[in-house]
Amino acid sequence: MQLGSTELRVYEGRGFVAGWRFTIQFSDGTRRLDLLVDEWFPRSAPRAALIDRPDFLTWPHVERDGVLCLLPGTAAVDPTNPAGAARVTIGSACELIEECVAGSNTDDFRQEFLSYWNWALPEKHEAFYSLLAPAQPTRAIRVWNGKPFALLADSDQDISRWLTNRRGEKDVDDLPSGGLFLWLDAALTPAEYPASGGALLELVRSAGGIEILERLVKANPNRIVIALGAPTSNGPCVAVVSAWRPLAKTYPKGRSRNPVQDGFRPGKMPARMLIQRYVAGGQVVWSPVERVDTDWILGRNKSAHIERLLAARVVVLGCGSVGAPVALALIQAGVSNMTLIDPDSLKWANTTRHPLGASSVGRNKAEALTEHIRRDHPHVGDISAHPRRWQDVMRTSPDVYSTATLIFSAMGDWEAEGGLNEWHVASGRRFPIVYGWTEPFACAGHAVAICGEGGCFNCGMSNVGVAVSTRTSWNAATVRQEPACGANYQPYGAVALGHVVSAIAGVTLTYLTQDVSQSSEVVWSGEEEFLKACGGSWTATPGTANSLVKRPWERRPDCPTCA
Ligand SMILES: [Zn+2]
Repeated sequence: MQLGSTELRVYEGRGFVAGWRFTIQFSDGTRRLDLLVDEWFPRSAPRAALIDRPDFLTWPHVERDGVLCLLPGTAAVDPTNPAGAARVTIGSACELIEECVAGSNTDDFRQEFLSYWNWALPEKHEAFYSLLAPAQPTRAIRVWNGKPFALLADSDQDISRWLTNRRGEKDVDDLPSGGLFLWLDAALTPAEYPASGGALLELVRSAGGIEILERLVKANPNRIVIALGAPTSNGPCVAVVSAWRPLAKTYPKGRSRNPVQDGFRPGKMPARMLIQRYVAGGQVVWSPVERVDTDWILGRNKSAHIERLLAARVVVLGCGSVGAPVALALIQAGVSNMTLIDPDSLKWANTTRHPLGASSVGRNKAEALTEHIRRDHPHVGDISAHPRRWQDVMRTSPDVYSTATLIFSAMGDWEAEGGLNEWHVASGRRFPIVYGWTEPFACAGHAVAICGEGGCFNCGMSNVGVAVSTRTSWNAATVRQEPACGANYQPYGAVALGHVVSAIAGVTLTYLTQDVSQSSEVVWSGEEEFLKACGGSWTATPGTANSLVKRPWERRPDCPTCA
């Protein structure tokens, strides 16, 4: 039977334009099933909905309107075979319904907890972010009851660092208060969601949280936030249940009675009774939780070296068009502690090849980039800026350098980098310094990592700071001058630069995560057509267009710095 507009209205908001109803024999009797398609069919998959079904959240994979979740979001449909797609949909719907009838898939409620918890929520709900480590044990936590979100964490320091990163140096208006994190052996099924204060109290008791709850209730707050955590086969899940204090009752004569303390003088009520009246007598509200902790934020990188990156401290010298994107790539890869140093401010003409745009023009590059990193990656640890030359920072705060795990320099200035190399050699080259730069028009790029063994930076550079092996040669001068004295620049765009930035960031990550003791160089060679169009040609230095070449950075016997 083809569905009319009345039957389709049941699925409002889904965008279905046609549907057919079937009656199908299942092991426990007949049930009606709708096959539904939207206007994108046959490019989109048809959906199935079950008409004869038990209450919502009795069976997994059945949404509120009866539509079944059959395909993962990534499944592809063959648009040349619509009948085949319909057959597959009905086939998997029947399979799912038989599993539901047999009760063999109730564990899906636990393993995919977050879907069902979110389906069960009231339409309007408070947003919770979590910095908690989603793991045992059951413990006391801290809750920042802010707007437009509340924040859960294991300590006040975690809350204040995250908020300061995210919102700048605004005063923290509301101080955190106490909360409770319950670690459960398994995620809850909908039948186990605590719908009443009594059920919540039972859950707290079973997870060993009753003593912490007693302490929280004694402070008599408006509400107590109880976070639930549990393992699933797809990683841990977190949700929040708020226990609201019972409302005061007002009697006709205007006397109001406190339903929690009533009958006892303040502080004299037995803890067990206090809890009973507060939690069991109050209202329970469910909320979703979005994890913002470092493990979750960086979890998609799947880097085997994440612990090492988190522990590292990187100093970035030069926050221009090479230094700034490399710094951001390192942050996204998992570096969490960074000092950014640059004396210059961002100009309008920088914005076409710098990650910061017009809103940062006029600001010091190191300070603006630091603020950008903190605001957009608030899970980071210690990110700080020095709006000065590296030599000035060395004079006043030498610890910045001596405690680094790695220094990355994109200063592209021989006075500065030659001096940095001298300091590196004199201090024993105990940790790597990576130097990164582009050749004209970003047709080629270099990342040179200097370690304890092999050459120092000067070994591969002339005494005026020109690399001994360049990849490109040019008939005419490539440096352009602004109509101002001494204001030179290399013309290149963000697209050609992107390859060079990736190469440099890659080398820096290698030296951060692996125990390499040998100095080396990686050279990127870009598009040949682009090189020729810019008026350049390749030199005899090894390499082919669009490729990376890695080679040792050798010692030079007559190097003025290290020989
Ligand atoms: Zn040397």
